[in-house]
Amino acid sequence: MLYLKNFIGGTYVDPVEKKYFDNVNPATGEIISKIPASNEKDIALAVDAAIKAQESWANSTLEVRFAILNKIAELIDSKLNDLAIAETRDTGKAIRHSQQIDIPRAASNFRFFATAAMQFASDSHEMPGKAINYTLRQPIGIVGCISPWNLPLYLFTWKIVPALATGNCVIAKPSEFSPTTAYLLGEICNEAGLPPGVLNIIQGYGHEAGEAIVMHPTIKAISFTGGTKTGAHIASIAAPKFKKMSLELGGKNPCVIFADCDYKEMVKQVIRLAFSNSGQICLCGSRILIENKIYEQFKNDLILEVKKLIPSDPENPESKMGSLISQQHLNKVMSYIELAKEEGGKLLCGGTLFKPDGRCANGAFVMPAIFEGLGPDSRCNMEEIFGPVITLQPFENEEDAIRLANRSNYGLAATLWTQNLNRAHRVSQQLKTGIVWVNCWLLRDLRTPFGGMNDSGVGREGGWEAMRFFTEAKNVCINFGPL
Ligand code: NDP
Repeated sequence: MLYLKNFIGGTYVDPVEKKYFDNVNPATGEIISKIPASNEKDIALAVDAAIKAQESWANSTLEVRFAILNKIAELIDSKLNDLAIAETRDTGKAIRHSQQIDIPRAASNFRFFATAAMQFASDSHEMPGKAINYTLRQPIGIVGCISPWNLPLYLFTWKIVPALATGNCVIAKPSEFSPTTAYLLGEICNEAGLPPGVLNIIQGYGHEAGEAIVMHPTIKAISFTGGTKTGAHIASIAAPKFKKMSLELGGKNPCVIFADCDYKEMVKQVIRLAFSNSGQICLCGSRILIENKIYEQFKNDLILEVKKLIPSDPENPESKMGSLISQQHLNKVMSYIELAKEEGGKLLCGGTLFKPDGRCANGAFVMPAIFEGLGPDSRCNMEEIFGPVITLQPFENEEDAIRLANRSNYGLAATLWTQNLNRAHRVSQQLKTGIVWVNCWLLRDLRTPFGGMNDSGVGREGGWEAMRFFTEAKNVCINFGPL
């Protein structure tokens, strides 16, 4: 049995208390490794290692940071298959997803922020004849990064790399459900020459290891991605300590379909945006809003396509849909399917447990579900299910569509399907979400601001937003002469 370790000061170490818990492959039910149940003692060791490394890393040249981060990207590319299989075994996601999306994106994150380190610049403000102000963007020092299980290495690196690129040392924790790729990243960092203590990776439970990161007085900023309830809890601890916070939280994303869209392409993309990674992507659309004129046609076409989506062994290269992340999460998703029926929803397809033949017979599989007839204020239209469950709601006109789309307390992402350019601009402006995709989904330019409004979080990641988050702005005012 593989016992994972913490990565502290460039070395793999056992957790101080020598306690571990099981890492279960959700597609098979097998225990695949043991995860350190770290606590505040392990965080304290990681902070000590980071303190030793901090000054030298903060003063390293941009070329040094660029070269190391870029080298890590190359090494991730070269180990793509090992990392992809580890991701799939931890999460049950289809191997093609790990190979084509998760791991390549982790490499892109390193490559992108390596170059960002070289390009990042700050402002200067001249007071003519009197003075010049310039802004220094200095590293915060030691920062904490906490990430979820749905896109493990992808989101882990999305946080840690801008922190490293701006000269911070990092204490990072992956989700207890997806520890392995973060564990493997330690040796990649050593191979690339990242100095010991610059990145420290602690495994464990959120309420122990995660909370110890948030509580630690030396850790001055927290970048968190996860559920809204956890985000609120973290904010309640970090805010009184005046820690800088970036909170990327849940979503209940609307997909707004007008009759004037490119219909064939739209149907194809709705399958993707609703059911990719079994609906376990914060950006997945789950409230599908359709103009009345095409509602029946769309419903029938969608059902036909979704019935073809049958989950299967995620390690099979042909698999398009794997298992959910855990039996516990499966139970949550099934409870929402029952709730949708109680709330008066009509189940149009799927929504049943699924048992593939062979080694995945004990896996956490569910057939993707479509409901109609649920009101906009029903719990199933207001709460994040985070699984392969969508609802259909018809609308009459643009005003009606915007009203329904903005009904949610969340505000992460929306998709909009129309060929009318004026409408695309008009509706995009009125949607209360941090991201609007028009006639596409998950088309990502890493320079763009990424994040949500309302219950979907505070702050933005991506591009300069991330580089600014991980730096302190200091204004220096130089007087030109006598006052
Ligand atoms: P959780 O909120 O349960 O956990 C996220 C991370 O926080 C995990 O590493 C978790 O550890 C840790 N954690 C849990 N409790 C605490 C605590 N008290 N203090 C510090 N850390 C803690 O989310 P999930 O992992 O279940 O991820 C799914 C959620 O993430 C969904 O709501 C989804 O929408 C959201 N998400 C948002 C994204 C965005 O960009 N807006 C992107 C992707 C996901 P552990 O796993 O060990 O409990």
